[in-house]
Amino acid sequence: SKGAALVAAVAQRLTSLRRQVSETLSLFRLKEEQLQLVKARMRSGLDAGLRSKSSSTIKMLPSFVYLTPDGTERGKYLALDLGGTNFRALLVRFKKQTSRLYHKIYTIPLEIMQGTGEELFDHLAQCVCDFLDYMGLKNTRLPAGFTFSFPCEQSAIDTGTLVAWTKGFKATDSEGHDVVSMLREAIKRRNDIDLDIVALINDTVGTMMSCAHEDQRCEIGMIAGTGTNLCYMEELKNIEKIEQRMCINTEWGGLGDDGCLDDIITLYDTEVDQNSINQGKQRFEKMTSGMYLGEVVRQVLLDLTRRGLLFKGHVSETLKTPGIFETKYLSQIESDRLALLQVRSILQQLGLHGTCHDSIIVKHVCLVVSRRAAQLCGAGMAAVVDKIRENRGLDHLDIAVGVDGSLYKLHPHFSQVLKETVRVMAPQCDVTFQPSEEGSGKGAALIAAVARRKRDV
Ligand code: BGC
Ligand code: MG
Repeated sequence: SKGAALVAAVAQRLTSLRRQVSETLSLFRLKEEQLQLVKARMRSGLDAGLRSKSSSTIKMLPSFVYLTPDGTERGKYLALDLGGTNFRALLVRFKKQTSRLYHKIYTIPLEIMQGTGEELFDHLAQCVCDFLDYMGLKNTRLPAGFTFSFPCEQSAIDTGTLVAWTKGFKATDSEGHDVVSMLREAIKRRNDIDLDIVALINDTVGTMMSCAHEDQRCEIGMIAGTGTNLCYMEELKNIEKIEQRMCINTEWGGLGDDGCLDDIITLYDTEVDQNSINQGKQRFEKMTSGMYLGEVVRQVLLDLTRRGLLFKGHVSETLKTPGIFETKYLSQIESDRLALLQVRSILQQLGLHGTCHDSIIVKHVCLVVSRRAAQLCGAGMAAVVDKIRENRGLDHLDIAVGVDGSLYKLHPHFSQVLKETVRVMAPQCDVTFQPSEEGSGKGAALIAAVARRKRDV
């Protein structure tokens, strides 16, 4: 009958829509073989970067951090932390085996992130001055550790040239300059405070150090937040130094900048890269970190909507707005505790009005995008721990990773998927993840304490 034919036609159309959505989502579902390839490519990137930094997408930057803290750190230190989204000033006080911490957060306006280097560092110096004032320490010359979460080519613990800005920063006249000098000069220009900057530290290194304080096995630091990166203790076999190992800041976010990930990069990733302020750079980071995941999701939603598979084919202004999906919304949408109606209401709050069925699709898109991110980081981590294991000629490695970042700490599935991937892909390693408490603050202060002790002997 006519009615039956109509029902059949509708059913067929639904099946076809569902198939189209699931074909799109499958672009993000990586097979075990693909993850093995990512692991292998990460490994060759690490090795190439150690041989020659200039020809590798993974920079493998020496940190000049050799020692783990020995628990004899004493006194007051300042930690300055320029991360992905804000600037923090911290006062860390070590007393016996404990430490106390005071801090203040300062936002960095977009026009300063993307203005001139001088303006940016003047702004930082202004924040430091405000903090010292607030703490009543304006007339003391405190030793300071500067956590600067961008790639720096270091030749000593207290100097480093910015190789390239990443994440949302693009201040002029900074790349190729020593960022410690820039900060010192900004402080000199003010002429009302004084600091003894003793160490320049990547956030991964601070994170590793703060966890190593509690657990001797901690020899890796990882950030899964606005950006992504990892550092680990590498052997110094061929370099004559008293120290056996130095911490290397891998800058693994650069994997794929030579095209080696093109087989898994989707058109949506390409779109995100094209719309970014550092096109062609940090391709791995753009598939795995908080600043970009929401954008990948948005590109997929845009495409599904344009193809009539979502939101009744209506491309709203909201959907066209970059940055609407912050990591915190992904975390909420993907939360297992949330009913579909709640997902729908989050989307409505964002200005995306759809049916419950639309909400299911959006949730699936978020799930596959963040799952892929966690798996890629897991494959990268597997490469690192196997490298460390081989370095030491071991059949089995027991190691801990200090880890920090909003994606790791706040996302409902990221950390689980990451751990599971590492377990499967590095079966000869036992990897314990330790969320760091105040990595870039306490870690920076510890490194500053060690650096000062070495300088003063
Ligand atoms: C930077 C790294 C940093 C990471 C996490 C990346 O964009 O290049 O230096 O460690 O973000 O903050
Ligand atoms: Mg940070």
